[in-house]
Amino acid sequence: MEKIAAPRGTADLYPPESGRWQALEARAREIAHRFGYGEIRTPMFESTDLFVRGVGETTDIVEKEMYTFADKGGRSLTLRPEWTAPVVRAVLEHHLLAQGPQRFFYVGPMFRYERPQAGRFRQAHQFGVECFGFAGPEADVEVIALAHDLLASFGLGVRASINSIGDDVCRPRYREALVAHFAPHRDELSLDSQSRLDRNPLRILDSKAPQDRPFVEGAPTMLDVLCEPCAAHFAAVRSLLDAIGIPYDVDTRIVRGLDYYTRTVFEFISTDLGAQATVCAGGRYDGLVAALGGPPTPGVGFALGMERFLMILEKRGEIAVGPRAGIAVVALGDAARARAVPLVAALRRASEGLAITIDYGDAKIASQFKKADRAHARAAIIIGDDEMRDGTLVARDLATRGQETVPALATDALAAQSVLAWYRALRPETEVAA
Ligand code: ATP
Ligand code: MG
Repeated sequence: MEKIAAPRGTADLYPPESGRWQALEARAREIAHRFGYGEIRTPMFESTDLFVRGVGETTDIVEKEMYTFADKGGRSLTLRPEWTAPVVRAVLEHHLLAQGPQRFFYVGPMFRYERPQAGRFRQAHQFGVECFGFAGPEADVEVIALAHDLLASFGLGVRASINSIGDDVCRPRYREALVAHFAPHRDELSLDSQSRLDRNPLRILDSKAPQDRPFVEGAPTMLDVLCEPCAAHFAAVRSLLDAIGIPYDVDTRIVRGLDYYTRTVFEFISTDLGAQATVCAGGRYDGLVAALGGPPTPGVGFALGMERFLMILEKRGEIAVGPRAGIAVVALGDAARARAVPLVAALRRASEGLAITIDYGDAKIASQFKKADRAHARAAIIIGDDEMRDGTLVARDLATRGQETVPALATDALAAQSVLAWYRALRPETEVAA
């Protein structure tokens, strides 16, 4: 029979890789918690209209990347291509803003029909936060600091790149300035940028097409035309970042091609990633809640690409395999196996987080040790004919290869306690490193 493969642009995760994901997710949750952000989970699919209105008709996402389908009831639904619009939808649906400012984080998959390549998938995963209800620069700085602290907690030397894209007052002026700058070169621009020139000229700044680059480089910058309140907001963001020691650069080419994005935009870019260099992107979106039918409410947030983050960590060897941990029970023969089952059960009940594994097959002792070693277990408990006869267990330290005989006490619970006491007394692996 012909085998069926996973869809292009998706990935299966299994150990040890899934362990790295768990470690990253745990760290992200922990840092979000420290900043007072609570988890929000929304459906994997939403009404297509939500994204058309909430992401914007002239964006790449809505123009060409959405997984849109009609369900059997004829509704147009779309797999979530990003999280901000669904979060705003949920916040409005449950009237959460009536209780004042709100802080949320999310972690999970998003779906975009893109050309799969390194760091670019059709099902990708994002961790992100959204902070609602604060118009001042402190909230911008808070979310930038949260992203920074997450990246920095893995030992990465990270700098934020920040910019301001102004507001309803000054951005129209900037649009005009951009059109005046690009229009004389219309024919030299990429086809995408030619259409952006009419529909959304800011997005030309975001272009990855090489032929656009010279014109982008010479383009006027938003910072030159910011209105006074936007300039003051940007200056305050900068001085607060300085005050809490977050390193950043101003990069005037960072934009968000959406009308309800306002003022601060930022990215974290890694030199380790090549073409798909942006690991985290965010900004302020003071117009979005109102655009989705809610009370005018400021918001700011970011989304961090987890695949890209893990790629950086892998390149840097930052999420290395941890120290050896856990106990492999090695039972040799039918009788020993029968004896091992209740002992394993007792160990698992008492183990406080240690992994207790057992091979139920007939493999020889050497091959069971090899497996335990590959699984990175710290210890093995061996039950063979001699141990069955003598009422003992052999406890082996897989890091030092030293072993000793321990009495198998009257009950499994007591035997488990003495095994775990022996295990806890082992010297840390770092001290016994070969
Ligand atoms: P890009 O310019 O790389 O297409 P984007 O502007 O579309 O990114 P955002 O919508 O801002 O990206 O998403 C935030 C983050 O999610 C990105 O910085 C990136 O790390 C990650 N990301 C976006 N699209 C993908 C994808 N197709 N595969 C993997 N990660 C992605
Ligand atoms: Mg994209």
